[in-house]
Amino acid sequence: MTLRVRLTLLYSLTVGGILLLLGTAIYITVSVTLTRQIDAALNRVIDAIIEESSAGQIGPLEGGSQTGLDQNFEIYVQYWNADNELESESINASLLNLKRSMDDAGLQANHPVFRNITIHSAQWRVLTVPLIVSGQDRKVGTLQAGMNLSIVERTQQVLLTVLVFGCLIAMAVAAMAGWFSIRQALSPLKAVTNTALQITRADDLSRRIPYSGPREDEVGQLITAFNQTLGRLENLFNTQKRFLADVGHELRTPLTVIKGNVDLMRRMNCSDDESLGSIESEVDRLTRLVGDLLLLAQAESGKLPLAMQTVELDTILLEVLQQMKILARDRLSLRLADIDQVIVCGDQDRLKQVLVNLISNAIKYTPNGGEVVVGLGKTENQACLTVSDNGSGIPVEDMPHIFERFYRGEKSRTRSRDGKGFGLGLSIAYWIVRNHNGQIEVSPRQPKGTTFTVWLPLAQGPCIDAS
Ligand code: ADP
Repeated sequence: MTLRVRLTLLYSLTVGGILLLLGTAIYITVSVTLTRQIDAALNRVIDAIIEESSAGQIGPLEGGSQTGLDQNFEIYVQYWNADNELESESINASLLNLKRSMDDAGLQANHPVFRNITIHSAQWRVLTVPLIVSGQDRKVGTLQAGMNLSIVERTQQVLLTVLVFGCLIAMAVAAMAGWFSIRQALSPLKAVTNTALQITRADDLSRRIPYSGPREDEVGQLITAFNQTLGRLENLFNTQKRFLADVGHELRTPLTVIKGNVDLMRRMNCSDDESLGSIESEVDRLTRLVGDLLLLAQAESGKLPLAMQTVELDTILLEVLQQMKILARDRLSLRLADIDQVIVCGDQDRLKQVLVNLISNAIKYTPNGGEVVVGLGKTENQACLTVSDNGSGIPVEDMPHIFERFYRGEKSRTRSRDGKGFGLGLSIAYWIVRNHNGQIEVSPRQPKGTTFTVWLPLAQGPCIDAS
């Protein structure tokens, strides 16, 4: 059963249920009110008869006088004596030719009693009032007043018919209104389903569901969430595709070199040192690539094992600078601007790796005669490390992508033939810093060059080893 059918059924059954309750209440109220009115009329007639019989002296009733009994043409009256013999009756009662009491059981009662009786296969309401002489506790007779209930029954039947038909019509109208309004409300969901199917069929994650209605209603929220999910999926999918292509590309070059060298040695039928050296360096490169990828996978999933300890950032910075001086040689100047004593909580080796990646990049992308300046300072609760160079700089359009896996600027792609970079160094630095609850930023340096800034929280107490 579709949602639309279920909602329509629910809608009409709810309306039907409410109307049924309301109708029952109306039916009962009308029936009770009508019965009460009839009871009141019967009471009034009996009261009037007793009133007329000399203010409670029941004399006129005795001896068969029936003048006082004809109070209302709709109401039939019988007067029974103390021996329960019919003394007199109203004209309409004698015309009815009852020949018996309207309520036999009532005649035995010692107090006024209303009963519903079947007379000539019709329903009657009968009031029986025993006539007791006041003060003597002696029953001198009984008055019975009765009324045919056919009017009430007819009214009840008409009411029942109106209520049943009204209820059915209301349910039908509610079902129709529900059917169309639900179709209208659910139509955007159909668009969602169709788009989802089209996406599956065409394998095209770039599609989005068009929606012109208000964004804040339930359907609008659903479509916005769905479109956001599609956007994210598209992003992930593209990243995945790019990643596979990049890995494939990075693997092919060293494998081709290795195969070429192996072929050469086979043809020469001897192993020469140059080929073996080349194979070894390509194997090293592959090992580095695989290591970097594993590290990145762990860091991105937040599962990078970190041996957390108190780290003197200034000390490791000086160590790294010492190593990097060898890389810079006389080609460019690598100098320390200002340095503060800074203590953070972190994994010493990983933080060293961040420094190495940033400073080696700065050296790599700065031409001969340039300079790389490193600084370490702190604010109230953060360490601030800067690596600045006056090299080629990073084009503004590359800046948002610089920390993505395998991303390399156009110039670096051509330079990467030197065999060193995979475009993973900044990604690794970014994720290591993120895993230390820090931030890494890049900005252009004036008049030319680049500045990388790393923010790390200062150690506030003993470090907890999360590994
Ligand atoms: P790579 O192995 O290519 O150096 P990275 O992830 O370390 O990979 O850097 C990504 C890209 O960022 C580089 O290819 C280069 O284009 C750019 N880049 C990084 N550092 C600098 C810098 N100091 N100056 C200019 N460009 C840089």
